[in-house]
Amino acid sequence: MELLKHCIREKGTVVSSGVLKVDAFLNHQLDVSLLNEMGKAFYAHFGHKGITKILTIEASGIAIAVIAAQYFNVPVVFAKKAQSLNLAGDLLTSQVYSFTKQRSYDVMVSKRFLTAEDNVLILDDFLAEGSACRGLMEICHKAGATLGGVGIAVEKGFQQGGQLLRQEGVDLLSLAVIEAMSPEQGIAFGVTQQF
Ligand code: 5GP
Repeated sequence: MELLKHCIREKGTVVSSGVLKVDAFLNHQLDVSLLNEMGKAFYAHFGHKGITKILTIEASGIAIAVIAAQYFNVPVVFAKKAQSLNLAGDLLTSQVYSFTKQRSYDVMVSKRFLTAEDNVLILDDFLAEGSACRGLMEICHKAGATLGGVGIAVEKGFQQGGQLLRQEGVDLLSLAVIEAMSPEQGIAFGVTQQF
């Protein structure tokens, strides 16, 4: 998606060869026009699939999911990263390893909000090694829900998450794919679908 690539080039910061900072438009300050265009792009790709729920992970996925959900007209469920007193009853849980934070954490969704009737679209900001996405997929599986697809804002194509999901037949749409990046040489994008 050209607008997203433009924002990454203009406002993103390559912190290291592995980590891109996008807090000027996606992770801290939010560019709502950009999020809206991203929502349209996800709907253009997944809109025909009978999605009943959008699943994401707190915190950065929520804004992307909420704006996209207005096009799909379905609820958003976000997986929580820590047990909260407000979460009563049975939980669907999974463990996620964050390579940016170098630690594992549990994510959880109440069984009330994801069931075997659901056809789920997973949305998130980044796809790197795929651990966050797999955690959400495991939660869908535990709920007996169908996975309709996975939509990602920024895929780092030099990490293996996206390639493995595609090999497994997951309908994965990444709006920008970074093939290589470094603080010295900047960012090289791969070819993606036109939006
Ligand atoms: P994965 O689980 O696929 O290895 O990593 C995806 C998760 O880690 C995303 O939910 C995102 O929050 C975080 N992440 C991975 N790589 C980056 C990055 O380069 N920049 C930022 N801001 N977050 C990242």
